[in-house]
Amino acid sequence: MAHLEKEVQGLKDQGVYRKIPINEGPCEAVIKLNGKEVINLSSNNYLGFANHPRLKEKAIEAIHNYGVGSGAVRTIVGNMDIHEKLDQVIAKFKHEPACLVFQSGFACNQGTIQAITEKGDLIISDELNHASIIDGVRLSRADRMVFKHSDMADLERILKEQRPNYKEVLIITDGVFSMDGDIAKLPEIVKLAKKYQALTYVDDAHGSGVLGTSGRGTVDHFNLHGQVDFIIGTLSKAIGVVGGYVCASEVAIEWLRHRARPLLFSTAMMPAATAAIIEAFSMLEASTEYTDKLWDNARYFKEKLAKLGFDLGHSETPITPIMIGDEALTMKFSKTLLERGVFVSGIVFPTVQKGMGRIRCMVSALHTKEQLDQAVHIIYETAKDMNLL
Ligand SMILES: *Cc1c(COP(=O)(O)O)cnc(C)c1O
Repeated sequence: MAHLEKEVQGLKDQGVYRKIPINEGPCEAVIKLNGKEVINLSSNNYLGFANHPRLKEKAIEAIHNYGVGSGAVRTIVGNMDIHEKLDQVIAKFKHEPACLVFQSGFACNQGTIQAITEKGDLIISDELNHASIIDGVRLSRADRMVFKHSDMADLERILKEQRPNYKEVLIITDGVFSMDGDIAKLPEIVKLAKKYQALTYVDDAHGSGVLGTSGRGTVDHFNLHGQVDFIIGTLSKAIGVVGGYVCASEVAIEWLRHRARPLLFSTAMMPAATAAIIEAFSMLEASTEYTDKLWDNARYFKEKLAKLGFDLGHSETPITPIMIGDEALTMKFSKTLLERGVFVSGIVFPTVQKGMGRIRCMVSALHTKEQLDQAVHIIYETAKDMNLL
C-alpha cells in the first residue's frame, strides 16, 4: 500500500485532505455536524423532503406491508407493485410516455447509456457533465467526443464533421450543472439534434424538483416535452429519498427492462424508499408551494451575497457557488465557516478544474430567512477576515 500512502500524503501536502463530516441527525436546515450545531448549506435536499413527516409515514407503512428489503433484482422477484406504481407515477408527473426507476441516479446512467448505444455509434458529451455520465459513457462501446461547456458552435462542429461516420449519435448533457448552477442550452441542443438526426439525453439530477412547474425539470422549464429522447432524474436530491429514473419512449423503456445492467444485477430499491417517493410526487402534483419556497429562498440568498460583492459565477438556479480560485484557500474558507457555524462544502479539483475552487451554497425550502441572514453574515465576516472580498 506504499503507493496509496504516498497519494494520501500528497493530498495532505496540497491542503486538500479532509475527513468526511458526520451528521448526527436528520438532514435539516440546522444539523448537528461532528457534535456541533451548524446551518446546513450543503445538502441537495432542496425541498426539505428528506425528513418530511408525510414521506416518513409512508415509508413506515411500507415497512409494515412489504418489509425492509425487496429480496431480489427487479427482473427476478424484487419487482413489487409499488415499484411498478412509481414508474407510472413519474412518467405521468413528467408528461412522458414511460419511465424506469433505478437504485440511484448514478446506477441509472451506468445502465442506460451502455444499453442504448453500441459500436458504430458516437456519444457527444458536455465537458462539465457529471461523473456518473462520464463513467456511464466509459462502459459503452460507442466512440465518444467532448464539446466545450454549453458551446453550441463546438457541438455543431463535431456533429457536422462526424455525423456521416456513425450510425446513431447521442448528445448528452446535464440539465443543470451541479458545480456552477447554470442551465443547459436545451432548446439549441434539441435544434441541433434535429438538424443532424441525433438523439438527446438530459441528466436532470439538479433540475428535477427544482426547475419547471412544481419541479417537472429542465425539459418542462423550456417547454420541450416530447423533444428530448432520454430524461434522467434523481430521487436522491429534491425528492429527498434515494434512486434515479429514466423517462423515454415505451420502446426504449422496454429495451432497458431487458438490458440495463443495474436493473438486471442489483437488488431493487427498498420498499420504504419507493413508497416515500410516491408520496413526494403526489405532494408536487398537488401544490407548487414547495418549489415556490425553494425559489423564494434562493433569490433572497443570492441577492444578498451579490450585493456584498461576491462572485457567484453564472448560476441560474438555487445552486450558489462563491468563487475563490485557489484550492487550499477554498478549503480553508470552508473550514473556517464551519468553525463559525455554517457548513458549506469546499469544491476543488478534481471535482472542478484546477484554480476554480469555490464553496458551494445549497439553499433549500427548509431555511428560514433568519437562518439565511445569519449565514450571509458569517460568510461576509469570514471573507473579510481572509481578504477574499
Ligand atoms: C447527483 C447526480 C447524479 C447521481 O444521483 P444519485 O441519485 O445521487 O446517484 C447523477 N447525475 C447528476 C447530474 C447528478 O448531479
